[in-house]
Order: sequence, then C-alpha cells, then structure tokens
Amino acid sequence: MKVLVAAPLHEKALNILKDAGFEVIYEEYPEENRLLELVRDVEAIIVRSKPKITRKVIENAPKLKVIARAGVGLDNIDVEAAKEKGIEVVNAPAASSRSVAELAVGLMFAVARKIAYADRKMREGKWAKKECMGIELEGKTLGIIGFGRIGYQVAKIARALGMKLLLYDPYPNEERAKEVGGKFVDLETLLKESDIVTIHVPLIPETYHLINEERLRLMKRTAILINTSRGAVVDTQALIKALEEGWIAGAGLDVFEEEPLPENHPLTKFDNVVLTPHIGASTYEAQERAGVEVAEKIVEILKK
Ligand code: NAD
Repeated sequence: MKVLVAAPLHEKALNILKDAGFEVIYEEYPEENRLLELVRDVEAIIVRSKPKITRKVIENAPKLKVIARAGVGLDNIDVEAAKEKGIEVVNAPAASSRSVAELAVGLMFAVARKIAYADRKMREGKWAKKECMGIELEGKTLGIIGFGRIGYQVAKIARALGMKLLLYDPYPNEERAKEVGGKFVDLETLLKESDIVTIHVPLIPETYHLINEERLRLMKRTAILINTSRGAVVDTQALIKALEEGWIAGAGLDVFEEEPLPENHPLTKFDNVVLTPHIGASTYEAQERAGVEVAEKIVEILKK
C-alpha cells in the first residue's frame, strides 16, 4: 500500500509507516495538478495546513481510505467530499496543546514586561529603561475563555505562576477546574475582573467575533488580551479601536483574521502589542507528536 506524504513529516512518523510495510511517497506541498497525479494510486495522504485536499483531489483518488492532517484543524480538507466516499479523515488535536499554551504564556510575559518593545529599542541603540515598567503575573487574575485542551494547559502553568484563574466555557469541566484551582464564571464577569484574558475557543459560528467592541469595553483599562486561537474570534477593527483609545493596556496575538498579516497592518503600529506569525504549534515536540499520532492512526486504519 502507498502513503503520500505531501508535507514535512517527522522522521519517527515516516519510520512508523515504513515499518508497517507501506511505500512512502514523499513530496512536499505539490501543486494541485501534480497532486492529482500523485493521488491516483495511494491509500493514504498526510498533509499539514497545506496542500489543499479538494473534492477534485478526492475524486481522483479511487484507492484512498484515509486523509490525515499532522496537526489540528481540517480547514484544508474537503471533509464532506471525503465522507461521501467513505474516506476517514484523522488529525492529532492534542499534539500541540502544550506548545500553544506555552506560547500564550510567553506572550503574556512579553506584553506584561514589554520584552519585544525593549528588544526593538536596544537594537535602535536606545536604553529604554524608563518606558519599560511592567507588571508581575503573580497574584493577577487570568481569565481563560475556552477551557479545553489548551486552556487547561495554560491554567496549569498560570497556577504555578501564582495567578488566580477565572474560566468561561459553555461545557464546564468542573473536575479539571478544581484541579487547577479555577472558578467558572460568566463571560461578562471574566472580562470585567481579569487582568489578562486569554482565548482558547474553536472558531465556530458562535465564537466568530466573540470578542467584539462591547466585550472589549468590559475589560479593565490595565488588562492584556492574548489570542492564540483563531483570528476571527476577535473583531480586529474593534481591537484596533480599543488599543487606540486605551480601553485595554496591550495584546499578544499569534493569529489574525487575515494571514499572513499584511505589511503595515494597523496592529503592527502599536508598541504595546506583541505579534507572532501563527507559531503556536511550531515546536519540535508538537510536530513529532502530531506526526507519530497520525502515522499510527493510518497504520491502524489501513491494517483493519
Ligand atoms: P478544545 O476543543 O480542546 O477546547 C476548546 C474549548 O472551547 C472547549 O472546552 C469548548 O467547550 C470551548 N468552547 C466552545 N464554544 C465556546 C464558546 N462559545 N465560548 C467559550 N468556550 C467555548 O480545543 P483546543 O485544542 O484547546 O484549541 C483551542 C483553539 O486553539 C482552537 O481555536 C484551535 O484552532 C487553536 N489552536 C491554535 C494553534 C496555533 O498555532 N496558534 C494551534 C492549535 C490550536
């Protein structure tokens, strides 16, 4: 049986496939025409956020049994078309949770202590000591919106930092909340009482622009907003207004409504905003875990 690996994959994952006796065809991010050729006689395909597995690709792959995303999210896969053909679609939703959580906490420190700003000034030859007064995280209240896999990991780290935890989730996991010493509250209370708000919800119709003008206005003027979930969970225009008018003190953002973030975007103009290019899952550990997890799932499905 043949497996098409159409995106970079950890060596351990490749070995799992080879050891199971599959022929591995490795071609990084093929264009659609090339992909249409490659899929003709494969039983499985592994992708990351690219390439796109469209209906046309699926219809060109008569032997296909499984499509795997070595990571989270299935945005680039036509899941409906796969379902119609009885093709299984798998991913590794938990592989990067810790990595995303660590980045979220890193962004909290970066904004709270103006680390990125200080670094920029140092490179300009400026000793910006006076402008770089910050705040400690210990004793502050962290509001976690979406207490799932990543939210829970953030809570564990925040607890170790001595932060108080407020949680908001329509499906509250009380046991986990108890474990991290967090308290479930409604969204309004969380926004009003938190010193830092961090978002870890999926992007679904109910969470589109969940953080809008009205909700940003509820936050403390000293509060920091962290978003490592999906860009469209926050209304970018409202956030820009909030930063311009000082409704909140700063933001740390890994995800954007438009990615890549266009050059000279208004968000790049704020000194109190730290930006990263959607690197939440970009660690060696997360990539290895994701690769191994989907390789094992493929072996299981194809050997059924
Ligand atoms: P998860 O499914 O484990 O947790 C999400 C939680 O959000 C669940 O507990 C769910 O009940 C809750 N939720 C659903 N609707 C809600 C609402 N309206 N308000 C509040 N909470 C709500 O997901 P996860 O693995 O923790 O991922 C969270 C987010 O992180 C997703 O948006 C995912 O796309 C994103 N993510 C980003 C990166 C990155 O590179 N920055 C990497 C991986 C995942």
